[in-house]
Amino acid sequence: LKQTETSVVASIAHVRERVKDARQKARSIGFVPTMGALHAGHRSLIEKARQDCRFVVVSIFVNPLQFDRKDDLERYPRTFEEDFTLCGSAGADLVFTPFSAELYPAEQAAFVDVPTLTEHLCGAFRPGHFRGVATVVLKLFQIVQPDRAYFGQKDAQQLAIIRRMVQDLNVPVDVVAVPTVRESDGLALSSRNKHLSTEQRQIAPALSRALFAAVEHIKRDERSARVIRDSALESLGRYPEIKPEYFELVDPQTLAPVEQVGGAVLIAGALWLGSTRLIDNVLYSGQ
Ligand code: AMP
Repeated sequence: LKQTETSVVASIAHVRERVKDARQKARSIGFVPTMGALHAGHRSLIEKARQDCRFVVVSIFVNPLQFDRKDDLERYPRTFEEDFTLCGSAGADLVFTPFSAELYPAEQAAFVDVPTLTEHLCGAFRPGHFRGVATVVLKLFQIVQPDRAYFGQKDAQQLAIIRRMVQDLNVPVDVVAVPTVRESDGLALSSRNKHLSTEQRQIAPALSRALFAAVEHIKRDERSARVIRDSALESLGRYPEIKPEYFELVDPQTLAPVEQVGGAVLIAGALWLGSTRLIDNVLYSGQ
């Protein structure tokens, strides 16, 4: 149940004040970190936080530390007015929208690295990206001090890295995973989908189709990751516009590549459509 109107603050001190007040009222704190350009995927995270917690904080911060390409940072969509409306209607109590200088008043010298999980999947292609993600998420955790924080399964590697950071550094936050929200044709919602042309948008669901087909392949008793991977890459190869980056079957926790499918497996892919990079994944439960 909503207790208050949604408000927006830009300073760390104001967040601390509001969270302290909520704590004094014995309210549990839920936190949803985002980079804005919010869509129904973010909405489902905020709504889940609203169901579980009495005070819900959403951060909107396009974190320069996690961008490995300057052009991606510059053209990352920024839609603050709509974002604020969405946060309100999804039930957020507080929206934290710091300027860069608030989080990085000086050059950052301390970082969080989770190298064994970073070397796989996206990490292999985006140097420094997950270090930037883990560092800003820990900073935000220290500011908000939530009981629970909500992350999308859509960014499976990010989720695995945050879980591992929380475990290894004894961070007192429950990490809650929220299922991927998709368009009706299967395309995973993403802020970057805004960059797709009409033609690219029509082709984009090929990635989720390849992932779902891989699950079907496993269910038909195919166990060789190489065979499953090759057939996915072949189906993506039918579109000359698509440049696949990776398509992998990995252990859901360690993200290490799997050769033979035994139990649960994370199937994850990344591709380029023009200058837009899309990622997606599905979790095969092993049953
Ligand atoms: P971002 O704003 O892209 O950094 O994402 C903020 C959070 O929303 C992350 O935890 C993402 O995993 C999550 N998210 C992004 N897209 C989706 C989606 N389609 N379904 C569910 N969660 C998502």
